[in-house]
Amino acid sequence: MKLGDMQQNPRHFINGRWEGGTTTGVSTNPSDTREVVAEYARGDKNQTESAIRAAADALPHWRHSTPQRRADVLDQIGSELLARKDELGTLLAREEGKTLPESVAEVARAGQIFKFFAGEALRIPGEVMASVRQGVQVDVTREPVGVVGIIAPWNFPFAIPAWKIAPALAYGNTVVFKPAELVPACGWALAEIISRCGLPAGVFNLVMGSGRQVGQTLVDHPLVNALSFTGSVSTGERILQAATARRAKVQLEMGGKNPLVVLADADFDQAIECALQGSYFSTGQRCTASSRLIVESSVHDAFVARLRQRLMALKVGHALERGIEMGPVVDGAQLEQNLSYIEIGRNEGAEHVWGGERLERATPGHYMSPALFLAQPQHRIAREEIFGPVACVLRADDYEHALALANDTPFGLCAGICTTSLKHAMHFKRHAEAGMTMVNLPTAGVDFHVPFGGRKESSHGSREQGRYAVEFYTTVKTGYMLA
Ligand code: NAD
Repeated sequence: MKLGDMQQNPRHFINGRWEGGTTTGVSTNPSDTREVVAEYARGDKNQTESAIRAAADALPHWRHSTPQRRADVLDQIGSELLARKDELGTLLAREEGKTLPESVAEVARAGQIFKFFAGEALRIPGEVMASVRQGVQVDVTREPVGVVGIIAPWNFPFAIPAWKIAPALAYGNTVVFKPAELVPACGWALAEIISRCGLPAGVFNLVMGSGRQVGQTLVDHPLVNALSFTGSVSTGERILQAATARRAKVQLEMGGKNPLVVLADADFDQAIECALQGSYFSTGQRCTASSRLIVESSVHDAFVARLRQRLMALKVGHALERGIEMGPVVDGAQLEQNLSYIEIGRNEGAEHVWGGERLERATPGHYMSPALFLAQPQHRIAREEIFGPVACVLRADDYEHALALANDTPFGLCAGICTTSLKHAMHFKRHAEAGMTMVNLPTAGVDFHVPFGGRKESSHGSREQGRYAVEFYTTVKTGYMLA
């Protein structure tokens, strides 16, 4: 199916068939709000239940399919995503507002993830162990966890669903996927590719719609054995309570307020680029965005002056325009929230260095200038996730102070440091309270084949991505045999 068809009328995919919805929703282009990207079917509780039942019915067959069969399907999905990365990247840029190069790279990454898990389907680990008893042999094998509910956010509408759907299918589970309401066409485009790559009916299902109707039904339904969620802390906590009460397996990836420490001995230009990319690319709408820049006192003023210069020159505009460095904010509500944090920052006494203003562009969109503050550690703008192009700089006396500031947050997703000191780099890697660390790299920007996840309020459950995903998508069985 061509992009033009996709845009018109995304529908649910339930038990191998495309279905309309009870109501219709609309997604618009944040770079040009006059443009409707999709008029999509919105599902309800009944449709979600049908999808869950279809996934449960398909499970016995799919879990016993050969790993080679599953690998072939995943490989084909990956090939199709890679072949169509430009077309799908354009759709992503139009629906979410990420710049075109970032959007194309995200679709390519989704393709690589499917290819990676095609390989993993053939490498499901297990082991034979010695028993304490004479003549007894013990083995440990892994089995699929069952029906997996996948609830995704809007900010990576191809990559995040890919890193959940691919391992779920690779390890023999069946899936009900709910994309975020702001990006139904991206969710639909991914589902459309998956639907054509040889899966039996019911193995993969797509239901679009609200968190309250579709998401909550997935969370509460007794046939859903596991839930993989990425989104905000508040939604994640609600899901955790409800799903663990009925003993479903839960994996949550949530917010971040990621520190980037810049020491006096850092390569200055490299540190500025790390801050710029980490804080403002993807319009700051990344859970791994470096929204707290912690800079050693002796280079603090020079760092702020140079970063301000770079921000003044940063090209903000339509996501499809060539040379644009930062697209629009995803929607009006998120834009208003970002702007309200600019007020909060000013009112709590943070020094406003640059930006944070609504911008007019050639097309009517949700544009704002990238914002920079000098803040104190107790300020809300230094503590709360804003999820927009708003960063603050905290002044550190020395490395130890910088490390303490970096760890002074309820979040623990990613922590970065720019330094030429091996000693400090190694110390930081060990003592940063985060699931991921970066040395001389932006906090945003991770590989597709290694574990992803955080600590503290950022994450719950086992890691996503890479071969560690096997922990969540399988359950261990220990077998004893008298030989
Ligand atoms: P959100 O929590 O509003 O929504 C995420 C998903 O949950 C959506 O599909 C939504 O419809 C659904 N949902 C909402 N209420 C629900 C409910 N009661 N039951 C079940 N599902 C429900 O988050 P968002 O605005 O889409 O995404 C932004 C957030 O995601 C930010 O906080 C960001 O940090 C986080 N995020 C985290 C990571 C990570 O890996 N740590 C990655 C990307 C985004």
